[in-house]
Amino acid sequence: MRRTLVAGNWKMNGSLSGNAALMGAIKVGAGAVSACDLLVCAPSPYLPQCRLELAGSAVAWGAQDVSEHESGAYTGDVAAAMLREFDCSYVIVGHSERRAYQGESSAAVAKKALRALQAGITPIICVGETLAERQAARTDAIVGQQLDVVLQALDSADVARIVVAYEPLWAIGTGITATPKMAQTVHEMLRARIAAKNAEAAQQVRIIYGGSMKPDNAGQLLAMPDIDGGLIGGASLKAEDFLAIAQAAQALA
Ligand code: PEP
Repeated sequence: MRRTLVAGNWKMNGSLSGNAALMGAIKVGAGAVSACDLLVCAPSPYLPQCRLELAGSAVAWGAQDVSEHESGAYTGDVAAAMLREFDCSYVIVGHSERRAYQGESSAAVAKKALRALQAGITPIICVGETLAERQAARTDAIVGQQLDVVLQALDSADVARIVVAYEPLWAIGTGITATPKMAQTVHEMLRARIAAKNAEAAQQVRIIYGGSMKPDNAGQLLAMPDIDGGLIGGASLKAEDFLAIAQAAQALA
């Protein structure tokens, strides 16, 4: 049985006062959604604040990126060991915004996932296709290849320790969401790829969906057998919406 993961990606948003209010409200609501795991992924400077606000609560915190290097002369990078010092449980790797704006390759994403695992942090590995790729019927090839590059870099045993996020680029921040059936089809394909590496792990790995997930569409998406949660951008900045998505998951548990 896979526990639903409801993860917020705050992206480059937040302030000390705003974060305190958001986390305070999420903590209050967390008691009513005990069937799912709640996570907020904050900008790195706010990770100490997350630890202060959330330690001992039912809400986990994580980062939005990690360096592919262990340590050294990599100005601006943040090492996995540093994230670990702030008790991050998760880190997002390979978000499409980083692939697009920072030119991150799948090979770099694989190195980042490995660094996270070595530090005891769960990587949330993002994969997704553009609209043009979907229209050209290349979704499986593109998304499958993005995941395969990471799987090839992992030991078979480590496969059980990852989370995969399917995030079609055309759905991120656009208000357009994949239909539950479209998302389920891709999730099923991704699980089959994981199974080819480690069949047992494939049944444990959570494959979450991201792309304009909102309170009004979350229930239908989360009802799909291979959709094990959500990676939520815009709606994670409002406690009410974030918790409503978690409540949709709770209602299905
Ligand atoms: C995201 O960026 O991971 C995301 C899913 O954003 P949104 O929910 O705003 O589409």
